[in-house]
Amino acid sequence: MSDLSPKRLLGKVVVVTGAAGGQGAAEAEALTREGARVIATDVTEAPGCRRLDVTSERDWAELASELEESYGQVHGLVNNAGVTWRARIDDVRPEDLARVHAVNVTGPLLGIQHLLPLMHPGASIVNVGSTAALTAHYPVAYTTSKWALRGLSRTAAMELGPHGIRVNSIHPGFIETDMTASAAPAFREANLLATPLGRTGTVGDVTPLVVFLLSSDSSFITGAEIPVDGGLTAHGGAKPLSDAVRDQHQQKGPLPT
Ligand code: NAD
Repeated sequence: MSDLSPKRLLGKVVVVTGAAGGQGAAEAEALTREGARVIATDVTEAPGCRRLDVTSERDWAELASELEESYGQVHGLVNNAGVTWRARIDDVRPEDLARVHAVNVTGPLLGIQHLLPLMHPGASIVNVGSTAALTAHYPVAYTTSKWALRGLSRTAAMELGPHGIRVNSIHPGFIETDMTASAAPAFREANLLATPLGRTGTVGDVTPLVVFLLSSDSSFITGAEIPVDGGLTAHGGAKPLSDAVRDQHQQKGPLPT
């Protein structure tokens, strides 16, 4: 059956970083389905991906000059590339912190700086944060980097708003990708307990939001921070307390399961 729904990103040129797999690959696919001309990039070689290390000014400068020549402008940027490092506060080393921040914070900053000259009013930038940016998540290098990215997103939204360019961040919770496949099974179980919707997320839970934020459907939304986390961050730590006393204080009968 052919899809006759109007394409929301027809002809828009969109750069996605970290698109060799996981959320980035799914975002690139979803944006392409909506008619965008997607430049999928990654530091890792993958079919259909152009090589770009987000920490490299040279890589960004080369990409910007290629895009200027081929399209003349860029309508969207998804700063999706990211790395984690699961050291805790007592054993994280300064070099780990610097390496994670280089990819997760400097990378998005360089992307914005290099593609900005090609962006016009209506352009949209999506920064992929994390629920770590909203909480005290234990891998401190990762958490501090995502809090910094949150700050960068807000500053960029303020500074670029007068130019008609929007900047929003999304904050995924536990999404099934290579990144979470390397987490301890106990971490997955703890996430399920902490998540009101009672499941982990898939890349398909994230992509519609990215499409929306890049499209004109979100034309008055900038500086927003949207969790995609099954409710994990909304309860602010109250869920284990609620779960602990549910049986003792049930007054109106059980909720539907
Ligand atoms: P992933 O590990 O599958 O994908 C990350 C991609 O980034 C990889 O393809 C990797 O090669 C690429 N990358 C790493 N360093 C790079 C660099 N220097 N330059 C260019 N690309 C680089 O993980 P994912 O879950 O798809 O992660 C996507 C984004 O979502 C990341 O920013 C991550 O922090 C964030 N996130 C993931 C989760 C989750 O549960 N999976 C939760 C919250 C936030």
